Amino acid sequence: MIEHIPVFEPRTGIDTVKAVTDALDVGWLGMGAITKEFEDRISEFLEIVPDSRYVIATNTGTSALHLALRIAGIGHGDEVITPSFNYVADHQAIAATGAKVVMCDVLPYNLGIDVRDAESLVTSRTKAIMPLHFSGIPCAMNEVYRFAHSHNLRVIEDACHAFGTRSGGNRIGSTGDITCFSFDPVKIITSIDGGCVVVNSARERDDAQHMRLLGVDKDTILRYQNERAWEYDVVSEGYRYHLNNISAAVGVSQIKRIEGFIASRRSVCQRYSEAFNNLPELRTLSSGYTDVSPFIYVVRVYNRRREGLIQHLKDRGIATGVHFVPVHRHAFFKDCRTGSMRVTDQVVDEVLTLPLHSHMREDFVERVIDGVCSFFSGEKSR
Ligand SMILES: *Cc1c(COP(=O)(O)O)cnc(C)c1O
Repeated sequence: MIEHIPVFEPRTGIDTVKAVTDALDVGWLGMGAITKEFEDRISEFLEIVPDSRYVIATNTGTSALHLALRIAGIGHGDEVITPSFNYVADHQAIAATGAKVVMCDVLPYNLGIDVRDAESLVTSRTKAIMPLHFSGIPCAMNEVYRFAHSHNLRVIEDACHAFGTRSGGNRIGSTGDITCFSFDPVKIITSIDGGCVVVNSARERDDAQHMRLLGVDKDTILRYQNERAWEYDVVSEGYRYHLNNISAAVGVSQIKRIEGFIASRRSVCQRYSEAFNNLPELRTLSSGYTDVSPFIYVVRVYNRRREGLIQHLKDRGIATGVHFVPVHRHAFFKDCRTGSMRVTDQVVDEVLTLPLHSHMREDFVERVIDGVCSFFSGEKSR
C-alpha cells in the first residue's frame, strides 16, 4: 500500500503534549499568563521594536480580521476593498461590520492584490484596503501603502499566510498599519485555533483588548496574571474573541520550533520550483522563497490540464488543494461591486496547491516532484 500524502500535515509532538498538560496543571484554563507569554513571543519573533507595535492574541484569524476592522472604526455606510481571490474570512469579517465588500483583481505573477484595479474602485465611502500576502509571498507593499496614503485609507493586512515572511528586510507585522495572523490547524504554526492582531498605537491596543473580551475594561491586566476582576465597567462593544491559556500553550510550543519549520518549507518550495520551472504547461509563482515563510505551494496549470493532473496525483496517493474559489462567485457575495476580475477569472481554473509540510519527508517530496513531472512528460510527445 502506498502511503497517502496530505496537502497539510501538522507538526505537533511530545513537546505540544507536555505544554498542554503543564498548562492544564496550572488550573487556569481561560485567557491568562500563557496568553501573555504567547503574545510576547510573537512580538519578539516578529522583531517588533518594543512599544512601537502591540500584539493582541485572538481565538481565530477571522476574529482578528473582524477586530481589526472594528478598531479602525469601519461599519455601516463604509466600503472595504479586498481581492476576490482570497479566503472568505476577510469578506465575512467586512460584512459582519455592516460595511460593503468591494472586490478587486490580483496580479498574475504572485496572485497578490492589483493596486491599480483597487484604485479604480475607490469612492468617498472607501475606508480601508485588505491586501493578502498570498501563500506567504509578500504583496506589493510599497504600492499598497502609497495608494492607501493618497486616498486616506486604513490598511488591514491579511498576513494569515505569511507569519515570518520578510518584506524589504522587515518581518511582515513589524511595520505598517494593522496586521492579522492566524494560527489555525493548518497554518505554519498552530494554537489549534487562534490568531492575533498587531496594531501601532497604545490606544488601538486598548480598544482591541476591550473588544476582545466583551468590552470589559479591567480584565486584560488581571487575566495576564491568572486573575479576574469582579468589579468592572464595560466601555465598548465587545466579542468573545480572546485566546485561552491552553490554546496559547500549544502556540508557545509551536513558536519555539518555527525557525526550523520555515527553513524546511522554504527548501521544499525551492526544490519544487527548480523541478517545475522547465515544464511548459505549468507556471510557478514568482518567488525565490529566500525571505518567504511559505504557507502553501501553488502552481498554475495551463491548457485545461489541471483536472488531469489532480487525478494523476490522486492515483499516486498525492492529495492536492485549490486556493481559492473566488468570493465573487459565492451566492452570498455575488451582488458585491467588483473590479475587472480578468486575472482572477482566469487563474481560478489553473491554481493547484501541492503538499507542503514542515520537515516534510524526503520520500514525500520526491514523490510529489515525480508525480508532477511524469504527468507532463508521460502524456506529451516531445
Ligand atoms: C486562515 C486564513 C484566515 C482566517 O483564519 P482562521 O484562523 O482560520 O479564522 C483568513 N484569511 C486567510 C487568507 C487565511 O488563510
